[in-house]
Amino acid sequence: MTASDRLDESTLQGLRARLRGRLLRPGDPGYDAARTVDNAMIDRRPAAIVRCAGVADVRTAVDFARERKLVVSVRGGGHNVAGNAVCDGGLMIDCSPMKGVRVDPVTRTARAEPGVTWGDFDLETQAFGLATTGGVISTTGIAGLTLGGGVGWLNGRFGLACDNLIAADVVTADGGLLHASEQEHEDLFWGLRGGGGNFGIVTSFAYQLHALGPMVLSGPVFHPATRAREVLRFFREFTATAPDELTTYAGLLTGPDGTPLVGIVPCYAGPPERGEKLVEPLRKFGPPVVDQIGPMPYLAVQHMFDPAFPPGRFNYWKSSLASRVSDELVEAVVDHMARVPSPHSAVMLEHYHGAYARKRPDETAYHHRATTYDVVIIANWTDRADTDRNVAWARSLFQAVQPQVSSGVYVNFLDADDGADRVRAAYGANYDRLVELKRRYDPTNFFRMNQNIRPA
Ligand SMILES: Cc1cc2nc3c(=O)[nH]c(=O)nc-3n(C[C@H](O)[C@H](O)[C@H](O)COP(=O)(O)OP(=O)(O)OC[C@H]3O[C@@H](n4cnc5c(N)ncnc54)[C@H](O)[C@@H]3O)c2cc1C
Repeated sequence: MTASDRLDESTLQGLRARLRGRLLRPGDPGYDAARTVDNAMIDRRPAAIVRCAGVADVRTAVDFARERKLVVSVRGGGHNVAGNAVCDGGLMIDCSPMKGVRVDPVTRTARAEPGVTWGDFDLETQAFGLATTGGVISTTGIAGLTLGGGVGWLNGRFGLACDNLIAADVVTADGGLLHASEQEHEDLFWGLRGGGGNFGIVTSFAYQLHALGPMVLSGPVFHPATRAREVLRFFREFTATAPDELTTYAGLLTGPDGTPLVGIVPCYAGPPERGEKLVEPLRKFGPPVVDQIGPMPYLAVQHMFDPAFPPGRFNYWKSSLASRVSDELVEAVVDHMARVPSPHSAVMLEHYHGAYARKRPDETAYHHRATTYDVVIIANWTDRADTDRNVAWARSLFQAVQPQVSSGVYVNFLDADDGADRVRAAYGANYDRLVELKRRYDPTNFFRMNQNIRPA
């Protein structure tokens, strides 16, 4: 009999009575919605789900699971491709109902709860003309994204999302609540900035904000995929001299009418008129078949790619960080995209530079400051029956690019089948220090449904 089998109704009634939020069991209304995450590949069934209404619920859930030796998983925005937010059999601690955001325009800081998405967060901060680095999709959770690092359009100017974290409240494995910052529990604070969900459940994130917008300069240019080689080489040159304000991604994808395309998307994080001259080469090169670059609200930029990533599709991702975009890398990507099995799949080349790259690799737990490109292979499809060929395609491209990329990988892009060596590579040279920290804050590895750092 497993621990979760011992969860009889009277035990659960006792837990229910101590919660402000709901407790869901299989069969309860809302149970299936709560266990469903973004990636349709993930179909797990927790024995119970605590829909946390606040910090007290999180602590109660942690104590309950620890006392009964239950596996726990922690859910924020539910976007993680590896699906670690949901466990089979154990207790899912679902923080997604915790959606408070409080902006202080005087100190230019914000406090946000772990169920907040970047769409929620940006709406609140932009109401005061403020922002901080977040992900490029509005539905991604601030929690998982920040704890793993957090790349997005403002990287060049303001660094990673975790570089802008100034404090966090953390429920630890013993049910205690710690406040971590540069002044208190500095070691834990260091680990929270790139070490993922290994050390506890963050119930409050405090961020440094910056004046931004409301208008920035962004939007894609597209070329036919027949020109992909030239376009990606041009992207390499264009990004080499980009100022901090200008973050640019390139991608190979299929247009809505089935046309294979290569796109470049800049975001100039400053007054649009100042960015115009900088993005001019993007308009002149080609010229593109579609040019949608123009001034737009930062909020619109943050929603720009939402339609391309609707929830509920099957996802399988492979990615590697690279210090350069070699001709051979371009060749492998172009060659594989010519036989991509799904029109929803894409390969992104993301450029991380500026403030991102100026931090020392050991300044936060996020290590990879010197590798400034991320090659992200996103296999994305709608029918379960197509799983094998989509996964095979992504794996084949991943193998093909290996000689051209580093062994480093961004922890938040790891998939469920990335083994311990890849997890270790994600933490890079910071791994041993993270193991020490894990020993200190979670010696029994209570929090292990994550890109796990084993305490021993
Ligand atoms: C379509 C799409 C677009 C993406 N775009 C970006 C991007 O632009 N930039 C980027 O950096 N990443 C991006 N990601 C990756 C994203 O950062 C990770 O998937 C991240 O884990 C999502 O966080 P979440 O809270 O939504 O995830 P969840 O699936 O809810 O959580 C993921 C993990 O984070 C941990 N966790 C969650 N909440 C807490 C908490 N309160 N305390 C402690 N640990 C917690 C847990 O270990 C959990 O398993 C994208 C992912 C997708 C699917």
